[in-house]
This record gives sequence, C-alpha cells and structure tokens, in this order.
Amino acid sequence: MADFHSIVILTGAGVSAESGVATFRGPGGLWEGHRVEDVCTPQALARDAELVHRFYDERRAKLAQVEPNAAHLALARLEAQWPGELLLVTQNVDDLHERAGSQRLLHMHGELKSALCAACGVRERWDAPLPPESECPNCGTPALRPDIVFFGEMPYQMERIEAALAQADLFVSIGTSGAVYPAAGFVQTARHRGAATLELNLDPSEGSIWFEESRMGPAGTLVPEWVEEVLSQSTQSSPISR
Ligand code: NAD
Ligand code: ZN
Repeated sequence: MADFHSIVILTGAGVSAESGVATFRGPGGLWEGHRVEDVCTPQALARDAELVHRFYDERRAKLAQVEPNAAHLALARLEAQWPGELLLVTQNVDDLHERAGSQRLLHMHGELKSALCAACGVRERWDAPLPPESECPNCGTPALRPDIVFFGEMPYQMERIEAALAQADLFVSIGTSGAVYPAAGFVQTARHRGAATLELNLDPSEGSIWFEESRMGPAGTLVPEWVEEVLSQSTQSSPISR
C-alpha cells in the first residue's frame, strides 16, 4: 500500500457487531424485531412517540453492557500513532469508538447518548431514559427526542465530511452494507477525487464494485491487520517525503 497523507474512514454497524451490538440488516431485515418504518422515521415518532422513545431507551441502556472490540481499539491506535490527517466518520449511534479512544470522530447519524430538542435544535448529553415530552433544558419546551438521524432526515456534518473526502488520498469503509445514502456514496466521491479505496466487510456490500480493494472477514480481525500495515509503512517512509 502506498504512502498516504489523509485518510477518511467510514464505519457502520458491522464494526460493533463483535461487541454484541445488533446490526441493522440481519436476517429478515429487522432491527431487533422492529421494522425500520416503526422506529426510525419522523412519521413513526409522530405516530407513536412512546414506542420510538422506548426503543432508543433500551438501546441506550444496553451500551452499559457492551465494550469496544479489537476493531474500535485499532482505529483509535491508528489515530494516535499515524502522523497524517485522519477523520473517522461513523454511521453508528453507539459510543464504542469514543470509548476506545477515538477523538477525530463524527457521528453522522446521531448518538444514543444525546437528546435533541425538536423546538430549538439544542443537543444535550443524555444518559438516562428519555420519556416523550421531556422538557428541553435550553428552551423549556417539552420536545426532547432521541438525537438520531431518521430516514428522510439530513445527516450531521455533511460539509465537513465532504471537505475531508475532497482531501483524502485513502478512503476506507468498514462494516457497512452500503445501502444507506449519502454514506453509501462516499466511495464514489473519494474515487472521483482520485483517492484509493478499500473495503473491509464480512460480506461483499451493495457498493463493493466501487472499491479498488475489498477484504472480507470480521472487523475484529481485518481492522487490526490493516492498521498494523499502515503504521508499519508510515514508520518506514521518510518524514521528508510527506
Ligand atoms: P447494516 O446492518 O445495514 O450493515 C452491516 C454490515 O456489516 C453488513 O454489510 C455486514 O456484512 C457487515 N458485518 C456484520 N458483521 C460484521 C463483522 N463482524 N465485521 C465486519 N462486518 C460485519 O448497517 P449500516 O451499513 O451501518 O447501516 C445501517 C444504519 O443503521 C446506519 O445508518 C446506522 O445509523 C444504523 N445502525 C447503527 C448501529 C450502531 O450504532 N451500532 C447498529 C445498527 C444500525
Ligand atoms: Zn429547546
């Protein structure tokens, strides 16, 4: 692998699978027994706020029972030891990347440990259950909802992500099915700008054809191997060539 200066990494549910966090498109396309339309759309929230809030309350509570795995830890090690630019963009709403030590991290689809005020837009750290009509600490309106980007809503930080993709000379996608846009299109943007593209996934994803290189296997094995490769090459190359 060549000497890279700027890496953008996209992760999806597959990176947390070995920690025991369910992926989205398991057998039957259900997320822990719920249909996407019932828990992950603005319409669902309007129709049955109790159900949607309870679903995310359960997932938030479960975070206490899971730990980062070797893939999260390897990505944090890469950030700490690799001398170039790096941005980790995750579609995951769990907090396993930050618990592993990643800091240059964007949660493009929101976070379980955050609440969003539908009235004033403020985002608030949230560790406890979040009953519907919880009052916003900023504006007092009973309008707090899970800070999750539902289908049909605009992901967070798209400008920063697009800017990083424009600079990147390597784009790596890990554990994502390549089915949810705009994240699924990042590989095409990166390629268009001339970046090398690598996919690490358990199975070929819907976007596999777009990647120059695809490695298939569990993230807990593939990611540490790849990080080791990048770090060993960066120590071999002369700092002057950067
Ligand atoms: P997805 O469930 O659609 O796809 C998961 C992908 O990971 C699949 O391609 C699968 O082959 C792969 N995978 C499964 N186990 C793996 C492993 N051990 N190692 C490597 N790869 C593995 O998930 P997605 O692509 O992230 O998209 C679904 C959406 O659901 C996202 O928008 C995300 O916000 C949300 N989601 C988040 C979480 C989380 O926070 N952990 C969990 C489920 C869904
Ligand atoms: Zn508010």
